[in-house]
Order: sequence, then C-alpha cells, then structure tokens
Amino acid sequence: MNHWLYTQAKNRPHHTAIRTGSGELSFCELYERAAKVRNHISLLDMPYRIAIQPKNHLSSVIILHGLILAGREIVTVNTHLTETEVIKQLSSIQVDVLITDSIYGNINCISPESLLNDSEGQGAEDTTFEPEDVLSIMFTSGTTGVQKAVPQTYSNHFASAERCKQAFPYDTDSKWLLCLPLYHISAFSILLRSVIEGFTIVLFEKFEEAAIMTSIKEQGITHISLVPQTLEWLLDAGLERHELQGLLIGGAKMDERTLEKSLERHLPIYTSFGMTETCSQFITATPEDIEKYPNSVGRVTADIKVAAPLNGAGEILVRGDNVMNGYLYPAEANAISFTDGFFMTGDIGRISNGYLYVLDRRRDLIISGGENIYPSEIEQVVLALPEITACAVVPVDDEKWGQRPALIYEAAEDLEEQINTLIDDSIAKYKHPVIIKRTAHIERTSNGKISRHRVKEWLMNEVQ
Ligand code: ATP
Ligand code: MG
Repeated sequence: MNHWLYTQAKNRPHHTAIRTGSGELSFCELYERAAKVRNHISLLDMPYRIAIQPKNHLSSVIILHGLILAGREIVTVNTHLTETEVIKQLSSIQVDVLITDSIYGNINCISPESLLNDSEGQGAEDTTFEPEDVLSIMFTSGTTGVQKAVPQTYSNHFASAERCKQAFPYDTDSKWLLCLPLYHISAFSILLRSVIEGFTIVLFEKFEEAAIMTSIKEQGITHISLVPQTLEWLLDAGLERHELQGLLIGGAKMDERTLEKSLERHLPIYTSFGMTETCSQFITATPEDIEKYPNSVGRVTADIKVAAPLNGAGEILVRGDNVMNGYLYPAEANAISFTDGFFMTGDIGRISNGYLYVLDRRRDLIISGGENIYPSEIEQVVLALPEITACAVVPVDDEKWGQRPALIYEAAEDLEEQINTLIDDSIAKYKHPVIIKRTAHIERTSNGKISRHRVKEWLMNEVQ
C-alpha cells in the first residue's frame, strides 16, 4: 500500500497538514520535508528500529513521518524520563539509536537538527508499506509499575483510525488541536489519522491554557483530544463551544463534576476507554450516549465483553484489528494477557443496558472481608468537595479484614470532617477509609494520571 502521507501529498497537496507556533506545512510540503529525512536515514544506514524523544515541535512531526517513509520501527520515548529510565527502556527492546535533544551515555544520540539540516542526497524511494509491519513501539504509561513495550502495526493503526471515526466523526475539513505529548498513543494516533484522512492538525508545544483558548476561539478548531485533567483546566479558564464539533476525552476516568460542568456549557463531549495496547481508544460514548447513560464509555459491540462477571462486574476483554498481537517486553506478560482470542485489559467493567462502565483496574481492586471495594467509587464521592483537587484510595493491610481502604486527598486545608460527613451519608460502612490523609500535592504521570501504585508507596513511608 502507498504511504498515507504520500497519498495526501498527491490528492490534497495544498491543504494544510500541520500548523504550529513556528509555521505551517501543506501535505505536499510535509511530504517533501519528510522524504528528505527518509533519504538521510537511508544514506546513514541506520538500524531498522530507531527511538525518538519527540517534543511537540514541527521538526518532530517531519522526522516521525520521515521514519515512517524510511520503513523504520519507531520507538517513542517519554521526554520526561531520567537517563537511567531511558537506558532501561531502550535496552529492554534492544535499541541503541535515539533521536533526542539530550545526550545519554551508551546510546547513540542523534539531534533532530542534524537529521533535518543535512538531508540532501537521494536515498531509497519506496513509497509503500506492508500492513503487517510494525510502525511504532510504545511503552505503556507505567501507572501500575512496569512499563510494557507494545508493538503497533500499520493495520493496527489503520483499524484504530477507522474505529475512532465511526464514533467520533471527522473529515478532511476538520481542524484537530493536538496538545497531548507526541510520544503517547493518544497524540501519535492523531498524526496518523491526519494523513489517513487528510485533515489539519494544530499542534501545541505544551499545555498552554490561554493560547489553546485563543486557538479554539479564533482558528476554528473542530476537534480536540484531552485527558480529564486538561479538560478541567480549560473549563476553569472559561472554555466555550465555539466551532468545536467534538472533545474526545480519554486516558482516565472522567469525574462527574467535570462532566456536569461540560454539559452545562453544551460542549460536545465524547468519553472513551482504551489503552496503548489497543492503539488508542477502543470504545467511545457519543453526546447522545452520555445524555442517556452519563458515566458509560459507550455502546458494547461483539468485540468487547466482560469476563466471568460477579455481581455484574468483571475484567474487560477486547479483540479487533486495532489490538496489538503481543508485548515485545516483558515477553512473559503475553501468557497472562490473552484468552480465547481476546486481550485482557486488566480493567474491571460492568455492562448495563448494552453500555460499558469502567470501574477500576483489576490490580487496584480492594478486597476487604471478601467484599470488593472499588477505589474510584469512593474517590468520586470525595471529589464532590470542590476544595479537593485530586484524591486516591489505596489498600492498607488489615489483620481482620485482609485489606481496608485508605484515602489520600490533595487540598490546601484540612477537610477530614467534611469528608467524613460526606462518606457517612453516601457509602456503606465497610467501604469507609480507615486512614484519611491530606497532602499538598499528589504526583501525576506525564499524561495527567494519578498512579495509585505510587500513592501507596508514599503512604507506606508516611505511616511507618
Ligand atoms: P501501565 O499499563 O503501564 O500500568 P497504563 O495502563 O496507565 O499504564 P495506558 O495504556 O496509557 O497505560 O493507559 C490505559 C489505561 O488507562 C487503561 O487500561 C485504563 O486503566 C485507563 N483508562 C483509559 N480510559 C479510561 C476510562 N474512560 N475510565 C477509566 N480508566 C481509563
Ligand atoms: Mg495498562
């Protein structure tokens, strides 16, 4: 098949492919610049698997497309990692070339500028790809501990784009604002959708509320992808609908107060559930779905089910062309991740009236005296207090009950009394947290998630 960018450069040469603070490129220009990088890569005789720490810059977009045209497997690496973490990740999947602005020992580091500046000369000019080839390798966010390496093929990405478009419609005239980090699937998938479909991306270097608000207001943004946290920040900054046709929210559970606020402002919210292993979102709730079933993540189809439900809840299993074939690392994760052709997501869900609800991660479930306690249920209740900016419920060992829940909340002042009143009124006694602790700051991962695993480590140190 012809490369998607090559096809767009032929079909819609003058349509804007990408716009950033430092300039814009049409599909034809983007192809020409990316083809130069491809030439350079093939002349340098670089290995088939190349890592990149892509900042949200125009240069990264050109290089990423250049790597695709050069038929390389692209390993995207989080730009916030320490040297030790970068080396650990790369050695786990045998990569020794990294395109980055930094310098790390034992790794052959190539600066983006050097690839862009001297890309003269003619390299291989193949414009096609094999659908089953690996296009990218991404590490999961590491929210639960080990970061797993996920290979994503061209067909996985194509199927993911198709699946996205069905629930979250877009077309060649769309203008999609991208302010998520490019190394993450939620952003990388927008780059690919853009060249598959032919729409414009408006790229932001980082999450700058004021600039994003202006762009939405003045540049006719139609689509935007956000995590719940960034949506909350935009709402606080006064986000209005303008020309937005869809706000795609994913990566973590959307809390009820953020959803309510969004609906009050008539924002076309789409909530979704997915992961690196499914090449971005797997299931999406449309505004119509949300109106009927506010906290669901969408209507269930034959390729999604809940395994062995107990009281209605069980592990969410998925299958489809967008699901990875297996982890590259750690290999032993594969034996416990697939069953009967379905991928085991590690998340617990419930299906009701044909709609899916995500409860919690399997490993975050707290089992107390044989009863299941879902941390997110308690967190949702506590988040009703506007002074609480974040919270996490984690298990603590208990001699009698096995485990009991503990609550850590982020707030400027002590709110234990209000929390207790709220909990007494709305949650069964066996779910009441035995420890309630305030902290000034709960750490988030680079894509805005709270790692209960890390909160638990923090708590262990605190209570020792
Ligand atoms: P790791 O697998 O390394 O622990 P991670 O699972 O956070 O990290 P990602 O692939 O970035 O890595 O995130 C996917 C996970 O995000 C899902 O498995 C799920 O736990 C969570 N998630 C995504 N969407 C939702 C949602 N709508 N509601 C609740 N959780 C969600
Ligand atoms: Mg995961």
